[in-house]
Amino acid sequence: MPIKVLPREVISKIAAGEVIERPASVVKELIENSLDAGATQIWIEAQGGGLKFIKVADNGSGIPAADVEIAFQRYATSKVSKLDDLGKISTLGFRGEALPSIATVAQVEMLTKAEHDDTGTLILVENGHTSRKEKQSRPRGTSVTVRYLFRDFPARLKFLKSTTTENGHIADVVSHYAMAFPEVKFHFVLEGRQVLSTSGNGDLRDAVAAIYGLYLARQMIEIRESDEPLLVFGMISPPSIARSSRSYLDFFVNRRWIRSNILARAVEEAYHSWLLPGKYPIAILNLNLPAQEIDVNVHPAKTEIQFRNNQLVFTAIRKSVHKGLEAIISAPKIKPADIQFNPPSTLLPASQSGISNTAVFRVIGQLSSTYIMAEGTDGLILIDQHAAHERVLFEKILEQNAQQKIEVQGLLEPVYIELDPKRDEILKIHSQTLEQFGIKLEPFGTRCYLLRAVPALMKETNLAEAVYNLLDSLSGETELKQLKDRIAISVACHSAVKAGEPLSMEEMRELIAQLEQTIQPQTCPHGRPTMLHLSSRQLEREFGRLR
Ligand code: ADP
Ligand code: MG
Repeated sequence: MPIKVLPREVISKIAAGEVIERPASVVKELIENSLDAGATQIWIEAQGGGLKFIKVADNGSGIPAADVEIAFQRYATSKVSKLDDLGKISTLGFRGEALPSIATVAQVEMLTKAEHDDTGTLILVENGHTSRKEKQSRPRGTSVTVRYLFRDFPARLKFLKSTTTENGHIADVVSHYAMAFPEVKFHFVLEGRQVLSTSGNGDLRDAVAAIYGLYLARQMIEIRESDEPLLVFGMISPPSIARSSRSYLDFFVNRRWIRSNILARAVEEAYHSWLLPGKYPIAILNLNLPAQEIDVNVHPAKTEIQFRNNQLVFTAIRKSVHKGLEAIISAPKIKPADIQFNPPSTLLPASQSGISNTAVFRVIGQLSSTYIMAEGTDGLILIDQHAAHERVLFEKILEQNAQQKIEVQGLLEPVYIELDPKRDEILKIHSQTLEQFGIKLEPFGTRCYLLRAVPALMKETNLAEAVYNLLDSLSGETELKQLKDRIAISVACHSAVKAGEPLSMEEMRELIAQLEQTIQPQTCPHGRPTMLHLSSRQLEREFGRLR
């Protein structure tokens, strides 16, 4: 094909696609505009996963009547005026792209009034053109309503996930801005339900409580470290609360919500000796530094930034998190290395060593309260008690579910559970499936539930944590088979005997007998080996008995 410059309307769509990827991008851009306008209250509403309707209203500065139409022109912005300004951006927006980009992929209605105007202005923009403009009254501030997002863009619609997933992304955006701006009052209504309302009193702990619940907010550790010209402040979780993914590490640089591998690594480093591998903390961290120290103009959605000095910010974050942790932890720490097991090179996962069954004659004993040592038909077998038990329970749960014979234990004392908006959405769609697995959560106010029942085999003492981890693992999953697997994995993981728990010989024998009955005894449901095998031949070789 010959190389040609694309027609203008194509270019405008490509550019729009970069800024506005999904409904949550619209919400993000509109909230940023409200915050840039100095709003102290922001109302957010969405319907149909944001495709039908998104409304963001604020009590900010408003737009003067004469400027309303210009705001919809590409690269029109009030926030920067010359090249020089780009080096020291202090607002969230600066490219003048959001409103025109949204208006090319949706119908946008804006009603705005500036302080010194007598009346407000209503403008309707469709396909990038103004189709209506008139005077209308409104108190100072701006409301933007976006309808029929991507209606004429089937290719883009195809890439969107279910309504629930898109709602989850929207809830995520709102929750994060509410945490970044605790002094702003956020009201959030999703599909007609009020899902979030923050106090706007400026207290981060209150904002965190509104999102993650009081239970978690109470335990979070506050940190505040100033090392001119850097300031790090926010909250981190104590090591007793851990998550199975990095998605609870949130960073705001000069109040902009960003993704950053460098900052995530700094936090992980700080927690290094306190959390087991694969476990991550919850952190809401603000980093303030002079605008010249960062470049925010590197990503279309402005979610990534570049630091002038990576080492500086890495060290600042690691040090302040570390200090926060040191302050609360006085007990001697157990490093993961102390309870980990480094297999010698000659030990192979049993699945790779060629043995096809796991026949064990004799349990020899327990190693580090974590591994079962057993004599097999051909040499030594080491079994990871947690992984093995997970495999047994995983298959048992799926079997019980398939036969609709899940054994349930009702809780004498129901457990009170508060969910953040994202997990609340996940629970809303999957509550029936969860109930089929014996997990019963009864609504108890806005995003609050009473856990009434759990599977009978559940041994977890911290049931709220188990529910959080379970819901996290279901995020984005739509296929029933996968969904059931994930529920079974999560329940198995929270019910299985843990590493570090002493077992009697009888218990070890019983566990091995059960493992032998499973369909896939060699791996745990996460895919890790349940056992390692050192064959008689390997032993002979290692001890120089083979000639
Ligand atoms: P940017 O935020 O990069 O400047 P936008 O397209 O998002 O670009 O907005 C264009 C301009 O419209 C802004 O610079 C601002 O002057 C004005 N504007 C947009 N939304 C609001 C709002 N909620 N309140 C006040 N002014 C707004
Ligand atoms: Mg903007």
